[in-house]
Amino acid sequence: MNPSILMPAEKQTEPLMWQELGHKYYSLNLYLTHKFGGRVQKISLDGGFTCPNVDGTVAKGGCTFCDNRSFSPSRRVRRDAITSQIQRGIDGLRRRYKTERFLAYFQPATNTYGPLDKLRVLWETALEDERIVGLIIGTRPDCVADDVLDLIDEFAQRTYVSLELGVQTIHDSSLDWMNRGHHHDAAVDAMQRVAGRKFETSLHIMLGLPGETHDMMMATADQVARWNPAAVKIHNLYAVERTELADQVRSGQVRMLELDEYLELLADFLERLPPQMVIERISGDAPPKDFIAPMWCLKKGTIKAKLVELFDARGTRQGTRFPIPN
Ligand code: SF4
Repeated sequence: MNPSILMPAEKQTEPLMWQELGHKYYSLNLYLTHKFGGRVQKISLDGGFTCPNVDGTVAKGGCTFCDNRSFSPSRRVRRDAITSQIQRGIDGLRRRYKTERFLAYFQPATNTYGPLDKLRVLWETALEDERIVGLIIGTRPDCVADDVLDLIDEFAQRTYVSLELGVQTIHDSSLDWMNRGHHHDAAVDAMQRVAGRKFETSLHIMLGLPGETHDMMMATADQVARWNPAAVKIHNLYAVERTELADQVRSGQVRMLELDEYLELLADFLERLPPQMVIERISGDAPPKDFIAPMWCLKKGTIKAKLVELFDARGTRQGTRFPIPN
C-alpha cells in the first residue's frame, strides 16, 4: 500500500487514482483505506430480519441459492444482542487486522424489511460504539420504500452509509429461475429513487446464471455502468448446503462455471464499468464447510492473481471499455 494514500478522511477531497498504484481494478480495501485513512473491517450483524421471499409475502422458499432456514418470520433481536454481536466481532478482528475502526454490516436476510422504528433503533445502537464508523445495510430492491430511504439518508448525514441492493441480473428469466420474487423493474425503480441521496449504493451481481449468454451478462454490466452506483459486488453462481441449488448441482441439472470461463467473463464485465466504481468482491464467499461447488471459489488468492494475469495478458483493466458506445 502506498503510504501517501493513508491520509485522514477529512483531508480527502480527490478520488483515488488506483491505476497509478498499479492496480487492475478499484478494490474495496483500497477505497476504504483511502476514505478512512487506514484499515477498516466489516462486522456482520444479524438484526433479526426475515425476507418477503421467505415469509410468503412475495414468494415462499427464498432464492434457490440462499440458505434461509434461519430467517424465520417474526424473528426478534434484543437491543443488547446487537451490542454483544458488535463486541464479539471487534474482539475477533481487532488484533488480526490491527484496527480500531469497523463498519456495522447488517447482512443476513432483508435488512430494511421491518418497521422504521426498529430500523432506527438498530442503527442507533450500532453507532453508540465509537469504534463503529459506518453502516452497511443489505436489502432487496423491492424493500426500499421512500420512507426507508429518507431514514437511511438521515443517518448518512452523520456517518458513512452504504445501501447494498441485491440486483443480481437485469434479466427477468433469470430472476424467475432463482425464485427472486421480483423482476428487473423493481431494480430500475429503486435506482431511480436512490439517485441523489447522501448514502452510497452498492449492487450485487451474479455471473453464470443458467441460461444467460455472454451478451446477456454484458447487458447487465452495461446497465450497471449506466446506473453508476458507488460500488458493485460481483460473484459467480455458487452452491452451498441446504439450498435448492445444491440439489440441482448434485443432480446435474445446473452446471457451474469453470474458473477460466468465469475469469474471462469477469474481466469483460469489469472492463465495461467506470473506473471510479469500487469493486467490493470478485468471487463467491461462504464458509468452506457449507460449500458444494465450484470448489475453486475457495481459492480467493488464486482467483485474484489469475484475474490480474488475464488483465496483463489483455493489456486492459477496469474501465478500459467504458463508456460503452450507444
Ligand atoms: S432475497 Fe436475499 S435473503 Fe431473501 S431469499 Fe433471496 S437471497 Fe435470501
